Amino acid sequence: MLSVADYHMHTPLCQHAVGEPVDYAAHALAVGLQEIGFSDHSPMLRDDFDNWRMRNDQLDQYVEKVRKAQKDFPNLRIKLALEVDYLPGHEGWIRDLAARHPWDYFIGSVHYVSESWDVDNPAKLSEWKKRDTFEVWSVYFERLTMAAESGLFEIIGHADLPKKFCFVPKEDCTKLFARFLDAARKTETAIELNTAGLRKECKEIYPSPAILRMAREKNVAITFGSDAHAPGEVGLDFSDALQLAREVGYSSCCKFTQRKREFMNF
Ligand code: ZN
Ligand code: FE
Ligand code: FE
Ligand code: ZN
Repeated sequence: MLSVADYHMHTPLCQHAVGEPVDYAAHALAVGLQEIGFSDHSPMLRDDFDNWRMRNDQLDQYVEKVRKAQKDFPNLRIKLALEVDYLPGHEGWIRDLAARHPWDYFIGSVHYVSESWDVDNPAKLSEWKKRDTFEVWSVYFERLTMAAESGLFEIIGHADLPKKFCFVPKEDCTKLFARFLDAARKTETAIELNTAGLRKECKEIYPSPAILRMAREKNVAITFGSDAHAPGEVGLDFSDALQLAREVGYSSCCKFTQRKREFMNF
């Protein structure tokens, strides 16, 4: 039995994941999870914004797929959520999305450091050569801080995503991290331990032990997520994530129901 929930998983509607919610749910039960949450990439105001998310007119279909999993797996608690891209100026759009269904939580993620560069996109690796690494991290954490300050999200996703391809600045980033975590604390926004980092070049959970230690000191709450894009990834490496969380002093994490927070010990 796993005492924590996997709150980050996708569906084929985002165009780069495989398996239906019912398949993720079946795998969740097989690995001993009692609670999961679907958080597929939300639509943008413009459907042609990029090619790795559901279209606007697919949002209801997404909700139906999750509802079907809930119906087929009454022994598993299944939450309805979205991973929403935070970009400055998109706040109104994010509020519109929030009003469309009774969501359990929103994960706010920063992937874009400009209107056209998603830092985790392997097709845009050449951008890293054109820009200073510390400057990219600074912009990224500025946006992450704005996302936390906005109060639009229950959870902030993969807090140090720019490390994915191992572009990590030599400069001291302590101030960037502290500012972000202070904002998260103030708005009671949680951060997630996202095990997908272990499957990327960086081979490390998002966020790093240093950021997580600082989060613990500042009393920022946590959740756990596999960021599964296939059923077999559900709950993957959760023993590593739990160990890391315990090492830095966490003994509880949050759960969300219709955007209300509860704590549970692990
Ligand atoms: Zn994805
Ligand atoms: Fe993401
Ligand atoms: Fe994700
Ligand atoms: Zn993600």
